[in-house]
This record gives sequence, structure tokens and C-alpha cells, in this order.
Amino acid sequence: MFEGVNASDGIGIGVARIAVEPDLSFTPHAPEDAEAEKARYAAAVEKFIGQTNAQIESMNAKGLDGAAAIMGAHIEFAEDEGIKDMVNGSIDSGMCAEQAVSEAYGTYYTMFSNMDDELFRERAADVLDVRTGLLADLLGKEVVDLSTLPENSVVVVHELTPSMTADIDRDHIVGIVTETGGRTSHSAIIARALEIPAVLSVLDATKNLKGGAMVVVDGSKGKVISEPTDDELEHYRAKAKQYAEEKAALEAYRGKETVTADGTKKLLVANIGNPDDANAAVEHDCEGVGLFRSEFLFMDAKELPTEDEQFAAYQKVALRMKGMPVIIRTLDVGGDKEIPYLNLQHEDNPFMGFRAVRYCLNNPEQYKVQLTALLRASAFGDIKIMLPLVTTLDEVREAKALIEECKKELDARGVAYNKDIEVGTMIETPAASLIADDLAAECDFFSIGTNDLIGYTMCADRGNDRVSYLYQVYQPAVIRSLKRIISEGNKAGIMVGMCGEAAADPLLIPLLISFGLDEFSVSAPSILRTRRIISEWTKEEADALAEKVLQLHTAAEVKAALQAAAK
Ligand code: PEP
Ligand code: MG
Repeated sequence: MFEGVNASDGIGIGVARIAVEPDLSFTPHAPEDAEAEKARYAAAVEKFIGQTNAQIESMNAKGLDGAAAIMGAHIEFAEDEGIKDMVNGSIDSGMCAEQAVSEAYGTYYTMFSNMDDELFRERAADVLDVRTGLLADLLGKEVVDLSTLPENSVVVVHELTPSMTADIDRDHIVGIVTETGGRTSHSAIIARALEIPAVLSVLDATKNLKGGAMVVVDGSKGKVISEPTDDELEHYRAKAKQYAEEKAALEAYRGKETVTADGTKKLLVANIGNPDDANAAVEHDCEGVGLFRSEFLFMDAKELPTEDEQFAAYQKVALRMKGMPVIIRTLDVGGDKEIPYLNLQHEDNPFMGFRAVRYCLNNPEQYKVQLTALLRASAFGDIKIMLPLVTTLDEVREAKALIEECKKELDARGVAYNKDIEVGTMIETPAASLIADDLAAECDFFSIGTNDLIGYTMCADRGNDRVSYLYQVYQPAVIRSLKRIISEGNKAGIMVGMCGEAAADPLLIPLLISFGLDEFSVSAPSILRTRRIISEWTKEEADALAEKVLQLHTAAEVKAALQAAAK
């Protein structure tokens, strides 16, 4: 059994697919039998075409026609007579198949990438993909394509990056195991949004788990069992059933108001990463969107999305939410969210560097494109603008001044927008917490980003398992910070929400009720459970628990007290 971070609940039982970048190095050698070597090459081509055709079929079945067309180009390059002649000729003159394939496709790659026509240049990448596929087969290695997986796949990968998950085969993946990442890493957030059981930070998982072997992923407990015994399988199948039953029981909360046991209304909204996630949020009965991480739009693109492209994405969410509130966070680039085409300089400590609102305010013309798109979309729903990683009041003032400029420009263009659009800020740095009173005076709302707030308060990286004992929302320093932020927001009469993962923490919810949190923004699959827990507490009960907890001095004591009180 292997242990890691319990990142996304549920039990996944399937076959391990080790998705490592395969080592395609080889030692060139002269084959003894050129004909046999040519046959080895022909077999690799045939297998590659067979696999690619299967992928095309599965993509067509899912309606991914564009992707299927790209795969069609792969077949053309594998079958190309010119390339085949070149490879066979090289084998005849004494090269092994690996070297002949590598050189022939290398020649074609150089040829395509130097062409003037952009279409041809784009095909250069396809040439390399075919070379990788053929070489992997000749060397007996497997290339795992996350976009078309066999049924019941447990993907084992060093790190699951947001871009890898963009086109992951959601229908056939039943579990995720990674070697890095903590509960609030973006891999974990995405896994939870997709409802895929996940265990992260399993040491050397890609080496120690066997590709093709049966594996159980217990995403609730953070355990991975390779080649389970019959007894273990029976145990986990029963657990999976129990998990499904608990989920079904939550259906009783669908369509209900989110209220505490004594009738105080709370707003229960969803965190989303792209416009399509809005559908899942509505399916899970959200009351709006509390955080649209707009950086995913930028990460999924090859160049800066234009004003119209951004407008279309924001408008889509606004329309889908039919008048319910939609908080869209402006570009939160940096940290673990890289956008290669922005060509940001390397930094030794990117989490403390030139990122998020700092980057945006330094690139005002680029920032105004996003702000203008947001303003335009505000004519189609209740869109609110949220600033990430704020540490000073100046940042809020500067951003608001840019928004005013954009409004004037839209007026001049005669384009409609909500003149009273609300502008709020994430509270996710200790600085923002300490000046919450100043910020509250000039912001329309707060949303507490506990994922970063915990990290920056405790000086403990959210993805580093070795400091995860410090990275805890139950740390008294964090609890006191939360209390302070909510109370300053309440005093100023603005809405205070929370969009960090802690908003869905069943243990923490009573404390948040006592502190006076107005809005809970959680991943779509956590909505009904959060509604249930909110409904179980009266303010009086929550206050009694908070009074006790605020007198405790260690994270362990706080967590134990919350666990003892949990209903
Ligand atoms: C947070 O920091 O809590 C947050 C919601 O933002 P992100 O996880 O995208 O950094
Ligand atoms: Mg954050």
C-alpha cells in the first residue's frame, strides 16, 4: 500500500496507466538482418496506425471532430511513402530502425518548420508526435495519451498540470495518483471538480506502481493499493457503494434554500475554471458563481485571448447563471499558474514575485482588455469583478481607476455595461487580512482565499507535503485571521465570502457561521454536502463552539475540538 495526500474523495478501482514522458534514448547499432529490421519498422507503423484509428473513433464518438482531424494527419505521416522509403533506405545502408526513424522524421520536421506557410509549420509538431509514437513502440515503451484512455484507467503521473487536465478523457478515468501536490494544489482542485478520486504526493508512484496492474485509489483516506487481494477488493467495493449511497442521500438538499438551523440565509455558490464548468455548477444546484478563475482561459490559449474572446466566455457564464451572482477574478497568473506566451522572467520565488494583480497593474493596456470584456459581459448578468493577491489599498485604487477608464471608453463606444458593477477583493495574504478594515471601506465585497492565506500566513507551501503539518486551516494563526477578516467585512456592511477550499471543510463550517461568513464558494460536487452542514447548525451552537476553539493554542487542539463537535 502507498500513502499520499487525500485530494479528491471517493474510491476508484481500475488499471494503472503510468503516464511518464518515455525515455526514448537508444544506442545506434548496425542490425544483423536488414529485412528483419524493416519488418520491425513496418510492424511499428501498423501498430501506430491501429492505435491512432482507435483514438479517432473514440474522439468522434465524443464529438471531438477537431481533435480527430489532427489524429488523421498523424496517420498520413505514418503512411507517407516518401518517409517510408527514406527509413527503409537508411536501414539498407546499415542503420537500426530506431535511428532510421529518428533521422527521417527529423529531416521532415526541419523541412516543415522552415516553411513559410503557417499551416505547414503547424504540422511540424505532428511529425514529431508520429516519431515519438513509432520510437516508443520500437523501444517497447508506452506513451499514455490522457485524452483517449481505455476504460477504467487510473492515471499515474508525476504531476497533473492544469493544461494536461484540459482535455483529459473524463469518461474513462476512475482515479488519479501523482507524485507531487497538496490538497489545494491545482491538480487537486481540478480532480475534485471532475469528481475523480485522487491521491497526490505518493513518493515515486510512477516507478513503484505497475503499469497495467489493478489498483485501488482511496481518495478519501489518501491510500493507493496496488494489485489488491480479493478481500481488499471486496472491502473497497463496499466502500465505493457506501460512498455512492451517501452521495445519493444528499439529493434531499437539492432545490432547497441554504439556511442555518435557525433560518439565517447563506449564499452557496460554485468555483469554476471555465465557462463549461458553469453547467456542472448548475447541475449541482449552485446559487451562482463565487469564483471564476479566469486564468484558466488564458492558460488554455496559445496567445492572449482578445477582448471579444474573453467577453464571449464571461457572457456565457453570466447567461448560464440567469441573474444569479457571478464573481469573476481577474488574471491570477504566477505561482503554479504559468502562461508561457507571457514570457515572464524566471524568478527564484515565484509565489512571492511578480504575479496576479501586480503583473496586471504593470501591464495596464493588457489588463484593460480583460476589464473591458468583464464590463461588457456585465450587461448580461450579475457580474462582479474580483482582484487577486491584493496586499495594499493602492492596488485596489489603481484597479478601480482602470475600471473607470474602461467605463468611459465603453461609453464613448456606445456599449452597454452595468454602471454599478461591484468590485471586490480576494483576501488571501496576511497583509490584506491586517488591513481588512481599510480594504472593506473601498471594496464592495471580500472573498477569503484560504488556499493562499494559509500558505502565506504559515510560510508553508500549499503543495509541499513536508510542511503540510503547518499548512492547516486549523492553525490558531489562521483561525484568528479568518475571524478578523470576517468581522471587519461585517462591520463595513459588505458581503464576506470564502472561495478557498476551506469553505467546504465540514469541520470548519460551524466556525464560519459563528464568525458571520455570508457566502460559501465551493467546488460543484461539494455544494449539496455544504448545504447540509450549514443546515445543521444554529448561530447559538456555532458561537458556543467558536468561543471554545478561540481559547485553544494548537492546530491539533482546534481540530480535535471541531471533530468532537461535528454532527
Ligand atoms: C485561494 O488562494 O484560496 C484561491 C481561491 O485562489 P487559488 O486557489 O486559485 O490560488
Ligand atoms: Mg489564491
